Amino acid sequence: MLAAYHALYGAARALFESERNFWVVAISLAHGVTLLSTSACFLALDRFPSMDKYRLQDKRAPEALFRQAFRGLFFNSAVTYPVFALLLYPIAKGFVAVSGAAPSASETAAHLLGCILVEDCLFYWIHRTLHHKSIYKYVHKTHHEFKQNVAPAAEHFHPAEDVMNVIPFLAGPLLFNVHFATLLLWVVVRVHEIVDAHSGYGLPWSPWSYTRPSERHEFHHSHNQGCYGSFFPFWDWAFSTDAQFRAFMAKGAWRTRGAAAPAKARPTPNKDGSLPTPRRNPPRAAKKAQ
Ligand SMILES: [Zn+2]
Ligand SMILES: [Zn+2]
Repeated sequence: MLAAYHALYGAARALFESERNFWVVAISLAHGVTLLSTSACFLALDRFPSMDKYRLQDKRAPEALFRQAFRGLFFNSAVTYPVFALLLYPIAKGFVAVSGAAPSASETAAHLLGCILVEDCLFYWIHRTLHHKSIYKYVHKTHHEFKQNVAPAAEHFHPAEDVMNVIPFLAGPLLFNVHFATLLLWVVVRVHEIVDAHSGYGLPWSPWSYTRPSERHEFHHSHNQGCYGSFFPFWDWAFSTDAQFRAFMAKGAWRTRGAAAPAKARPTPNKDGSLPTPRRNPPRAAKKAQ
């Protein structure tokens, strides 16, 4: 499979005289196709009531916010990332081989794992810093407009955060001098993971389900407390920034991984022993009066 991918990469490279143009087009396509196709798959799940059991929160994000982020997917794919790729090429070309022999399977796997580990560490610290009360409102608050995640939230950022996100993403490839064919796989891996984490679903067959980033990140958005990591829970565990998340999950508050919904409290019977008529909407006035 990797050999077929490298053959495709070689054929695509041969289409471009300019290495820079190939760099820009290939990154833009890897990012845009992964972002739009993964988001479309998750949004399609909303059409199937049978998938509701995998949704982490019942409440949906406001429609206007959803539409704004949805448009952002196309803008990022068509403008933001191609511009980033163009601006970063002069820096990256000294570290990343665009032409030449393709790497072996073991080298590709080692480089991808290295990129994930470097990103996971840098993302945790940058993200945690962005939550510092002295700077949160200037940049990261934009991303937290989503209290309930949905796939387009994955790239709903303040422009300054878009730029900052390049650091954890590109640090691994530059550090390990990965081949450009591997860097493109890394784009696919990273974009898929971040869309999955913002999908609002906890799918048992997700490739990331073992480390449960979607549940951690859903809690991060709904409670705005801890869970700053991306791929792995290690840094949150090591610095106890997932304590509230673990306490929350211990209560079984979410129907995660398709588990049965928690049993609802039995209604108090009327004086004559009959059960009260269920109300579709919570009594808001009574709630306010408390
Ligand atoms: Zn955050
Ligand atoms: Zn997020």
